Amino acid sequence: MLSATWTRAEEHGAEQMVPISIQHVVKTFGRVRALDDVSLEIERGELFFLLGPSGCGKTTLLRSIAGFYTPDSGSIRFGERDVTTLPPQKRNTGMMFQNYALWPHMSVEANVAFGLKVRSVARAERSRRVAEALAMVRMSEYAKRKPNQLSGGQQQRVALARAMVIRPQCLLLDEPLSNLDAKLRLEMRSEIRRLCKEFNLTGVYVTHDQKEALSMADRMAVMFKGRVAQLGPPEELYCKPLSADVADFLGETNFLDATALDVSSEGQRFRTAAGDLLSANGRAAKGARCRVSIRPEALQIAAIGDSAARREADVNHVEGVVRERVYLGEAAQLELAVGSTILRLNLTERADRPEIGLRSPMAVSVDPRDVIVLSA
Ligand code: ATP
Repeated sequence: MLSATWTRAEEHGAEQMVPISIQHVVKTFGRVRALDDVSLEIERGELFFLLGPSGCGKTTLLRSIAGFYTPDSGSIRFGERDVTTLPPQKRNTGMMFQNYALWPHMSVEANVAFGLKVRSVARAERSRRVAEALAMVRMSEYAKRKPNQLSGGQQQRVALARAMVIRPQCLLLDEPLSNLDAKLRLEMRSEIRRLCKEFNLTGVYVTHDQKEALSMADRMAVMFKGRVAQLGPPEELYCKPLSADVADFLGETNFLDATALDVSSEGQRFRTAAGDLLSANGRAAKGARCRVSIRPEALQIAAIGDSAARREADVNHVEGVVRERVYLGEAAQLELAVGSTILRLNLTERADRPEIGLRSPMAVSVDPRDVIVLSA
């Protein structure tokens, strides 16, 4: 059990965890503008994700927060404190990297104790805090082992204990799970989230894995080319992306070119190659060219039949022919050919439905709330 000296969230003291304010940060490397006027506010105790494709600037931003890079311009504040030019060791951040780099010749406890030693924490206090940090990540019984006697997941827990033992004001994580296999990754996702929440840490987590971000983040920023494209809670970004780039990056989707039609109390209609579709969210000037995005899981199988009558009864009723079927384990993905347009849909229930064979006619419908309108 944790001793009272390691303060849990409710006892943690507001000064321990800080909000992070990033204002107009620019960082260039030669001609590359790695960060191009980035501004964002990370709240106290929030688990915040930086997400984006390779080279979009997420690591540069994290390293600027840690103090390894000084921005060309702009500012970074931890609460009231301007840390823009402060060296890393004066920022009190805990770091955890992709390559967790435990010292192989040191025991687990010596690895965890290292950060306290360089901070000249007295021996007795050091032992107590190392024991607490190992208990936090459920590694107490491995204290005497060497890193090569641990599994990858266990080594990662030690790296997490090492980052936490200094009682950081914020925890900075750079692709910490990318070297682990799928099962361990899932386990460590919930472990990291549990620790951040239990100790009310402000966490900034870099990844290019959208599932990791969607499942763990309180809020996230999707970055492209050194800029923040969209920022918000995972569900908002996934369900209401503002651009095709964000929609595409966050998961598979069907894009359809569209022309805006009339607006009614139910939403706005859009003409697409799969027929006219009603969107509850979209607003575009009548006649405007745009794109709509429909996630594969938003398409539901509808009863096939008298098309005209169905179209009246079912909003957003689309009929086509099954062209391809891919078994995904937890779901089956179908490709529905609607004229020359292909719609992909995921069947999560009864993925083994034998009646839906190749070349079968099939009808689908989509809730108007799931027809997302994007600028072209
Ligand atoms: P990845 O997911 O591949 O790690 P990233 O989003 O973290 O990518 P950054 O490492 O922040 O991207 O890099 C942003 C841009 O800045 C890239 O074009 C990269 O090549 C460039 N860059 C980053 N660090 C340096 C450096 N030390 N010197 C020169 N260019 C750099």
